[in-house]
Amino acid sequence: MRTAVFPGSFDPVTNGHMDLIRRGAKLFDRLVIGVLVNIEKTPFFTIEERIEILSALTKGMEQVTVKTFGGLLVDFVEKENASVILRGLRTVQDFSYEQPLAQANYKLNEHAETLFLISEPEYSYISSSGVKEIFRFGGEVREMVPDIVYEKLKEKNH
Ligand code: ADP
Repeated sequence: MRTAVFPGSFDPVTNGHMDLIRRGAKLFDRLVIGVLVNIEKTPFFTIEERIEILSALTKGMEQVTVKTFGGLLVDFVEKENASVILRGLRTVQDFSYEQPLAQANYKLNEHAETLFLISEPEYSYISSSGVKEIFRFGGEVREMVPDIVYEKLKEKNH
């Protein structure tokens, strides 16, 4: 059984993430979405909220499970018996960021290959940080996130 881990902050989940999840689910028998518990960042959505949102969004996708992890990604990958780390590439900036991470992760565990999917063009401008910034200043983010996320964002504003 081929298992891949799709790690990220998902704060918030965007249509770009969902595109990767849908495509990843087709490639692997099991896709584990790993929500990184990052104590240093001040999140927009709590870990619990992100888990709830991702679980709702992937309901009915049998291969997909949603979990949290802290510490080293390669340890999480091993714990999940995964052989692939799935990541998305939007731009060359993503490539520059991802290259040393993928190389370091391979050094740490050569049984875990990082696999990149190139973003669909309609999603390549979307990032969680962009969504948060636009939303904070009253801009429209409806096209960038799933409906559940849009509703939750609006709730936060009230
Ligand atoms: P991280 O802080 O680990 O980058 P993110 O939640 O921002 O966490 O991203 C998780 C993964 O999803 C990364 O591989 C990122 O490249 C990918 N990703 C984010 N937005 C998009 C998008 N619009 N299209 C494709 N991949 C994306």
